[in-house]
Amino acid sequence: MVEDEPISAVITTHALSDSFDTFHVKTGDEALSFCANIEPDLILMDINMPGISGLETCKIIKGNESLKDIPILFITASQDAESEDQCWESGCTDFITKPFSTNTLRHRVNAHVAAKLMADRLKELASIDGLTGVHNRRYFEQYFDEQAKLSARNKKPLSILMIDIDFFKQYNDLYGHLAGDDCLRLVANIIDKALERPTDHVARYGGEEFVVILPDTDIKGLEVVAKHILQKIQTANIVHEGAPNGVLSVSLGGCSAVCDLTHYKSLILSADEKLYLAKRSGRNRYQVN
Ligand code: GH3
Ligand code: MG
Ligand code: MG
Repeated sequence: MVEDEPISAVITTHALSDSFDTFHVKTGDEALSFCANIEPDLILMDINMPGISGLETCKIIKGNESLKDIPILFITASQDAESEDQCWESGCTDFITKPFSTNTLRHRVNAHVAAKLMADRLKELASIDGLTGVHNRRYFEQYFDEQAKLSARNKKPLSILMIDIDFFKQYNDLYGHLAGDDCLRLVANIIDKALERPTDHVARYGGEEFVVILPDTDIKGLEVVAKHILQKIQTANIVHEGAPNGVLSVSLGGCSAVCDLTHYKSLILSADEKLYLAKRSGRNRYQVN
């Protein structure tokens, strides 16, 4: 709730506090710094406040890529068409005119929060691989684009690691496709758990191939992660009677570079080439540039 009048804020937040965690800030500036730390599921916004107005605050939030999907509901005393238009034009989701019943406020907020949570869930599902539960290729492509741009701007290295299960066709042939699927889930989970930084992510790149992206990581860091994943898979000791050692293994190929905006896709090609070398030189190993 963004509201400069304490009494209005108390009445409104009280009406909602049974169903929601509510926070109250007094100005548009405070609202912006609040959102930078805790992303709310909905904002109730007064229009006339000292400093930047509610309309301006709304425009700023709607222009921010990571905040623009937060629904904003204005609470306004003006009911003329011009004021209403100004609300809509600022990008708000809805508005409530004063005086209002607390019951209506609760129902409106409920409806908008439900829609927001549903949209969040759909966004999340759209970026997850249905079989393994790790990110999907679509997510990877998007995250890779973002991180490549950051790498180019900040002159920090970005690392990519391609991981492919060894003799997986034989695994399916020996144990069946469903067991193969279980195995894929297990491997995905092991890789996911092996990543320690919140910015490191694994995605399923294709059938039995995974890609790991490591922002702000140089070749040394990349090698540490590759070795760690290789060991974790070895330690899991997954039986595979079709593999030379009787256990399932993976091969990894990695590449690290400070991205150049016109060429960054070549990072994936280079990692793929290293993966090919790891396969050709005996599998169950990593190769990095
Ligand atoms: P290599 O050691 O050279 O990587 O050989 P491989 O047999 O692992 O590789 P190849 O690319 O020849 O075969 C990959 C196999 O992965 C083909 C397919 O049977 C299996 N596979 C791909 N996607 C899935 C999946 O979603 N589920 C299951 N169970 N198997 C899959
Ligand atoms: Mg394979
Ligand atoms: Mg493969």
